[in-house]
Amino acid sequence: RSDAVPQAPEDPLFGLMAAYRKDTSDKKVDLGIGAYRDDNAKPWILPVVKHADQKLHEDPNLNHEYLPIAGLAEFTNASQKVLLGVDSLAIKEQRVRSFQTISGTGAVHLGALFLAKFYRQGQEKAVYLSSPTWANHNQIFTNVQLPIKTYPYFSAKTKGLDFDGMIDAIDRAPDGSIIVLHACAHNPTGVDPTQEQWKQIAKTIHNKNHFPFFDCAYQGFASGDLARDAWAIRHFIQEGFEMCIAQSYAKNFGLYGERAGCFHFVTGPASDASETANRVASQLAILQRSEISNPPAYGARIASLVLNDDKLFAEWEANLRTMSGRIIDMRQKLKAALDKMGTPGTWDHITDQIGMFSFTGLTEKQVLRLREEFHVYMTKNGRISMAGLNSKNFEYFAKAVDQVVRE
Ligand code: PMP
Repeated sequence: RSDAVPQAPEDPLFGLMAAYRKDTSDKKVDLGIGAYRDDNAKPWILPVVKHADQKLHEDPNLNHEYLPIAGLAEFTNASQKVLLGVDSLAIKEQRVRSFQTISGTGAVHLGALFLAKFYRQGQEKAVYLSSPTWANHNQIFTNVQLPIKTYPYFSAKTKGLDFDGMIDAIDRAPDGSIIVLHACAHNPTGVDPTQEQWKQIAKTIHNKNHFPFFDCAYQGFASGDLARDAWAIRHFIQEGFEMCIAQSYAKNFGLYGERAGCFHFVTGPASDASETANRVASQLAILQRSEISNPPAYGARIASLVLNDDKLFAEWEANLRTMSGRIIDMRQKLKAALDKMGTPGTWDHITDQIGMFSFTGLTEKQVLRLREEFHVYMTKNGRISMAGLNSKNFEYFAKAVDQVVRE
């Protein structure tokens, strides 16, 4: 009977959003949710998305029919190229199979479901997540009954990467473990490995015969450069790994609620790689059919128009530079304001970290004080969404941080 169902806790992030909405102070600052805001704290529809939307509606053949199970082919093909590069050998050798998904979350889920069913069948297997990671990773992999383990990632001391801890844990994980990696702009820390460190991570994963699963939610949004933000993925492909990749267009197109994303399975180079990939795709199709039947059309149509048109693509790249540029500017302004006040502690990590989020190092007590006394909303782990800062509120925030840090 349903009266045996226990009450589940509220999603912490969505609970935080509700508390922010209720707050009537005109000073309130939302540094919780990971969505881009412009300098007026407003959601930003990318100009390129407006242009694509116009173009879409000029099409007299537009209708509301179902997409195929694997989604819009123009979209998934272009998604491979933007992620892996137009000259990708894996694409040329037909080793990549791609499914349009319910944004990045759906892509992680489809991959998780596939691995739960087909990876190392009948053998022990575990998924290694970075500590910390995007909270939903835990739920998604747990929901498909894959055991979760963690590898160290963030060093509280340096507020940077715990590289030795990470390598050591990956090295000690049982052979053939699934290692989830954030392709760029790690959520929640904003800390990414350097290219040299990525090379060593790849070597360790290779030596242990582990299986990499890349989650790519911020390509182009992090640095403003699509190729740079996909560097780690492309390096792993060059090294010949078989892997899963989850790709989200929520942040880099501002298509959050439209749920545009893609799941890619890449098989390693082998004479029968393409046939293997076909068999994988045939199973993915069955999983997709039972989960969502077929993906939603609108967001993928918009992204597809942009990805397949040189002029719109160039406009998208300019829009990406606008978003990443504003965020990098906010990082610099926040750090300068803290430095100017001589706020105790070091704040280099604010500008060293990249992407939507910064792990400030503020304690839970300080976070709660910021909320109660200063109307500043951020998650308890001290993560701030840089996009919530703008030219009008960064000084207010810096002063509030200064006060809570001193007491
Ligand atoms: N992975 C990571 C690491 C993320 O930060 C996000 C967005 N918060 C996602 C996946 C998926 O987001 P979406 O489903 O909105 O694409």
